[in-house]
Amino acid sequence: MDVKLTWLDTGYCRQLELFSRKGGRVKMIRFHALAGLIEHPQHGIWLFDTGYSPRFFQATQSFPYSLYASLTPVVTAPEQSVLAQLNQRGIAADEVKGILLSHFHADHIGGLRDFPKARLYCYESAYLHIKDKTGLAAVREAYLPDLMPADFAERVTFVDRLAPVELPARYAPYAKGYDLFGDQSAWVVDLPGHAQGQFGVFVRDRDHGELFLCADAAWSSEAYRRFLLPHPLARLIMSDRKAYRDELHKLHVLSRNRADDLRIMPTHCSEVWETTKEGGDFSWRS
Ligand SMILES: [Zn+2]
Repeated sequence: MDVKLTWLDTGYCRQLELFSRKGGRVKMIRFHALAGLIEHPQHGIWLFDTGYSPRFFQATQSFPYSLYASLTPVVTAPEQSVLAQLNQRGIAADEVKGILLSHFHADHIGGLRDFPKARLYCYESAYLHIKDKTGLAAVREAYLPDLMPADFAERVTFVDRLAPVELPARYAPYAKGYDLFGDQSAWVVDLPGHAQGQFGVFVRDRDHGELFLCADAAWSSEAYRRFLLPHPLARLIMSDRKAYRDELHKLHVLSRNRADDLRIMPTHCSEVWETTKEGGDFSWRS
């Protein structure tokens, strides 16, 4: 079954390009944080992550959370929040049925508290890793506790507690995953390495064919196409450097196997960001 996927640009942070990939320049570039609006013909409105929201500024006002804001200066505006952009499209907060949280970095959970009725979907391993962290321990995980709704535990479904199934062979080298809706329209797969318990999702878009929302398993399309690891300094923040390398290689292989009929879409990739503009271009290839 096909869904409709729309990327929403929720703002950006500034970072040195050399952090994002080996050979990058000593130059500040923008890392946009995108959120995916998924419209499923039977299951309604879903989100893949929630990007930034102005709540980021409140959550980083006091020390040590302010460190986060100084390390990655963020630019976002109220009209860029996922909620504001859904409202613009005539969608109310309560219409969002579920939110898929690829991982708990602050640039993925920024809009979470705007959707108090939505079911939340993450890996249990990801949640357990951050849930009791505050102060410096939280900042070290790029996690801001203030962005979490108080009733998270009551609304969450742990995807990694579902029964794993064999993925269709066309997704090789990815072999196992979770059939989220039980109708083969969205497959959740493990993407360890960047953050504890990160996952990605394969969906079929009704206009653009198969897509792989790979979150932060790569920071740019260039990185998986050419198998370019991030700068060694950036690798220091990865939860598991070996797993990150292995996953980036899998993305690289997938991009070669499926160069013509599947698009791999990293959350912070400038090519994916281009699709958020008016008449944005989905036509580039993996
Ligand atoms: Zn991340």
